[in-house]
Amino acid sequence: MNAAQETKPDNKGLKKEVSRRRTFAIISHPDAGKTTLTEKFLLYAGAVELAGSVRARASQQHTASDWMTMERQRGISISATALEMEYQGFRINLLDTPGHQDFSEDTYRTLMAADSAVMVLDSAKGIEAQTEKLFRVCRMRGVPILTFINKMDHPGRDPLALLDEIERILGIAAVPMNWPVGEAPSFQGVYDLRGNKMLRFQRTEHNRFRAPVQVSGIDDPALPELLGQAAYDKLVEDASLLSGAVAEFDLVRFLNGTMTPVFFGSALNNFGVEAFLNAVLELAPAPVARETEQGVIDPASDTFRGFVFKLQANIDPRHRDRMAFVRVCSGKFEKDMLVLNPRLKQEIRLSRAFKLFGRERVSVDEAFPGDVIGVVSPGLLSIGDTVTTGKPIDFAKIPVFPPEHFAILVNDDVTRFKQFNKGLEQLEEEGAIQVLNSEDALRREPIVAAVGELQFDVVLSRLEEEYGVKARVQRLGFCGARWIRASDGAIPRMSLSTGMRRCRDKNDGIVVLYNSKWELEYFQKENPGLILSETS
Ligand code: GDP
Repeated sequence: MNAAQETKPDNKGLKKEVSRRRTFAIISHPDAGKTTLTEKFLLYAGAVELAGSVRARASQQHTASDWMTMERQRGISISATALEMEYQGFRINLLDTPGHQDFSEDTYRTLMAADSAVMVLDSAKGIEAQTEKLFRVCRMRGVPILTFINKMDHPGRDPLALLDEIERILGIAAVPMNWPVGEAPSFQGVYDLRGNKMLRFQRTEHNRFRAPVQVSGIDDPALPELLGQAAYDKLVEDASLLSGAVAEFDLVRFLNGTMTPVFFGSALNNFGVEAFLNAVLELAPAPVARETEQGVIDPASDTFRGFVFKLQANIDPRHRDRMAFVRVCSGKFEKDMLVLNPRLKQEIRLSRAFKLFGRERVSVDEAFPGDVIGVVSPGLLSIGDTVTTGKPIDFAKIPVFPPEHFAILVNDDVTRFKQFNKGLEQLEEEGAIQVLNSEDALRREPIVAAVGELQFDVVLSRLEEEYGVKARVQRLGFCGARWIRASDGAIPRMSLSTGMRRCRDKNDGIVVLYNSKWELEYFQKENPGLILSETS
């Protein structure tokens, strides 16, 4: 379908709503300052009371937004919700990604719903393990990334070395947009390389900073006096090094994910945050056209379209229901709208649509491309499903990550057998785990397969809190799984070595579990007619 044909010329209102939206996620290694930066963004947007609850979420305090004890205990955020804020005419949708690598599959799904990402680095630590992993996930999606190098008030690494590290480890060009002046503890602020402004840092007065000083450029005679000769000389030296060493900022390369603009600052001291937020709004793309197998979808088209990127049950103990989070991609969402789910070939009336903050749900009457809405519609929406008022399309082939951890879940309380099964089924639908049924007559217990180990803890905790089932995990030694098909389409026949296990997934697909790379290679050699895949 050609988007131009279906767009009325008078849809200026929709176009305006699209162009003022910025939907992004913040990625970082734990402790780099993601929560602090989110909190400061909320402060700028005037959402002071919300800023406090972001902090409470990350700290171990008990508040309404801490809906899961697990999150508090681990100090990590497992759910992905969207924070919304209005700032200077923009609507910001900040998607929360889990920080821990064990939830990278969840992160990937959330990034499918984001139009860009902000990467926060600790200036003393540079690229850390989790930054790298999350970056790779962004890279797979090709999302544009803005970088904020945080904690400049503390002694950190040399800024040039940090840029070099981004380029070397992440393989992406890093272009400084501002440059730190003076090293901690005498950090003086940042020089805005594009706007020729000196933003001066002041630690006192409740972390406020002095008004920026406009200068004509690095050669401005006012600068040495402003900064002191030594800091000025260093800035001049750095600037000359930079001009030879780094590329010019290129919007096209930023948008295709091969170049990241880099900003320095200190989230805790609220320094450089406003300039960074303004840059995010200026550079990060508004919702863009998305490619689908059925053609390019213009966000400003009249047809409403969105896709489900996350499912979660029992968010609110008062409403024990399941919410599907839909990213709106085109058109306008209106309450009570009738949409098609092409997978089921079924129409669904979206009468129960909500926005979430923590546990609180607020009914939504309208939403625009870039927005995220939570839809309650039992059994009708799965991860990856499209909802549309138009012709069937496939938005998002949301990939499944190969499981690497396997365990048997043991439920000792036979009286809660039904709840146990229901819980497992629900968690599988949410994409938290996969349940595999062993075909071994002697070992019938269902096997739970997960991408990250912590997912088992989440499953145990949620089974207990939401289903009243106290289960135990018995770890199995398998290190990987392969989904099996025969090349001729027939039911595959195979010879298994004794340590391996043959199972069925929920769609009756045949899966084998193996204990080592060597065992897998041997299996392949013994069964040359089979097609093996890492996921279903
Ligand atoms: P997250 O795990 O990435 O969400 O990190 P947090 O935002 O919770 O920050 C981790 C720690 O770093 C906290 O103790 C913050 O107070 C501290 N922190 C955050 N930003 C800064 C900063 O700009 N300077 C300094 N010195 N500390 C910071």
